[in-house]
Amino acid sequence: MLVLGGTGEGHRLAELLGAHRHLRVVTSLAGRTTQHRPEGEVRRGGFGGAPGLARWLHANAPAIVVDATHPFAVQISRNALAATELVGCPLLRLQREAWRPTAGDRWLSVPDVAAAADLLPDVGRRPLVTTGRLDLAAFTTHPRCSALHLVARCVEPPTDTVPARTTVLLARGPYAVAGELDLLREHRIDVLVTKNSGGDDTRAKLDAARELGLSVIMIDRPPAPRGLVTLPSVAGAEQWVLGALPRGSSPARGRQSPVQ
Ligand code: NAP
Repeated sequence: MLVLGGTGEGHRLAELLGAHRHLRVVTSLAGRTTQHRPEGEVRRGGFGGAPGLARWLHANAPAIVVDATHPFAVQISRNALAATELVGCPLLRLQREAWRPTAGDRWLSVPDVAAAADLLPDVGRRPLVTTGRLDLAAFTTHPRCSALHLVARCVEPPTDTVPARTTVLLARGPYAVAGELDLLREHRIDVLVTKNSGGDDTRAKLDAARELGLSVIMIDRPPAPRGLVTLPSVAGAEQWVLGALPRGSSPARGRQSPVQ
């Protein structure tokens, strides 16, 4: 099994599948963050585009590839689709459901990070930006955002220098609503900017924003490829994988025999 990871779901799936002792599960990470190592066998770093991934698949011959990467990690998902088609390996997409607005939410949907940065100065002066360090420059270098005081929450420090008016908070979810309310109040946040990542770990900021009546600039997900089997839950993905394995590799959770 190859699990393309970098998400909590990918790590949980690798853990569940790894408990079936007859399966060898390799999790692949882009290798950009230093923490949060999943259990089991891990490889790090890019493959070298779709051709490089196809070469890896050819050499290692996994029975199935699960693309459990983040909904906004477009390139690796494209590569996974192209490479698995090339070598004829089954591909499953594990992707958590998108968040949906509920009564009281004040969401402004935009198609991408650039559009969020364009809109931001019209909505607030002290935004909390949770789009991740790699997308931070879209806001810090945008001429119309130069008068704003940005509070950016990232898992790892930004690699580029950030302007003095930017406050960087380093934190990793999961987050609770009480803590998110404290943060929004303490930094006098008047608008939240987020990708529609989905999932429970980082949902609390949306509940807190609703409670305080704040607007949310919600960056929509990039369109998913058509015709790909996509499941939203880790348990569902585990069942799908076990059902799709070649005959003869029956599951035996916790069996102690060596990996074949
Ligand atoms: P991306 O733009 O889709 O990928 C850029 C390149 O990074 C890929 O072409 C590939 O390099 C390499 N790569 C990405 N994920 C990989 C993986 N799991 N294993 C091996 N190589 C990988 O991805 P991204 O948006 O920069 O995200 C990088 C990683 O962070 C992803 O694994 C994703 O799950 C995770 N993540 C992303 C976000 C986000 O907002 N984008 C949020 C949380 C976590 P090669 O072409 O050389 O193979």
